[in-house]
Amino acid sequence: MPALAGMTATASIPALNSHRAQPTPRPASSLMTPLVVCLILCSAAAGCAHLAAAPDWNAAALHKVPLPWSAADGLPSRAEIVAGQLVIHADFPLAEQHRIVRELESLRADVSQQLGLPISDEPVHLYLFENKQRYDDFAARQFPGFPSRRAFFVETDTTLSVFAVWQDRIAEDLRHETTHGYVHAVVPMIPLWLDEGIAEYFELPRSEHGVHAAHVAYLSGRLLEGTWRPDLDRMEALASAGELSQDHYAEAWCWTHWLLNTTPQRRRLLQDYLTDVRRDGQTAPLSARLRHTEGLGTDLAATLRAHLESLTPPPK
Ligand SMILES: [Zn+2]
Repeated sequence: MPALAGMTATASIPALNSHRAQPTPRPASSLMTPLVVCLILCSAAAGCAHLAAAPDWNAAALHKVPLPWSAADGLPSRAEIVAGQLVIHADFPLAEQHRIVRELESLRADVSQQLGLPISDEPVHLYLFENKQRYDDFAARQFPGFPSRRAFFVETDTTLSVFAVWQDRIAEDLRHETTHGYVHAVVPMIPLWLDEGIAEYFELPRSEHGVHAAHVAYLSGRLLEGTWRPDLDRMEALASAGELSQDHYAEAWCWTHWLLNTTPQRRRLLQDYLTDVRRDGQTAPLSARLRHTEGLGTDLAATLRAHLESLTPPPK
């Protein structure tokens, strides 16, 4: 696992705003205090989970932690690589031309182009721990009480950071969490469901073209059982990461894939929506816009089911 970085005991993380190519509106409260506004974990079983939802995790504890973090806090600091917007800190030597580094760098343009978003220069720090014990110790010390995960994303008023332990699924984990970083750099108020749908979409290798086979199989099974029905309004009502289940991650991916890969009009609708959310977090929801563009009588759930079925491999 790559890790480390470059942060020495005397180095400091640059203030975000001073590095922005285009200032991005953030919640007023986050401009005044070192408030963590987003804390996301990736789990092997159910994708990504927002840490703030962990039952026994105390978000207030973060306020006791001086920010930004430094090597003195046990962060990887042996090597540092700058790759576009990414500042990668690793516990071990990591080649600048490493496949994962190049892939994460190109992911920035993919996210920007497909979502119609500008590219930010705001640094996204990736902390890569080679040793799981060191990673667990750091997480337990800085984020006491939150569940163990392979990787997680943290947004504060001044930093966008990903923490991960180097293991077999590191490429997928980093694509997922780094996508959160790229998106939050320009759309910090993105709705929870869409934030996860986009991260699940871009966590896949490019060769998969956004088709998440595990989610397709899972949702197809739920449809056969008659235990799942797509509901965009229900997705939009999600307000806490603690509410997110495997159903939600899979459905969020499915809506995102449908929007980006069926018609130019739907892709444009998603792009316009993200542009509006970037300007105003209270803008009209995506579901209302879809009902207008798809037609008031359109059954969006049936449309998504048909899309899922089109992606489901025929039985052998
Ligand atoms: Zn996530």
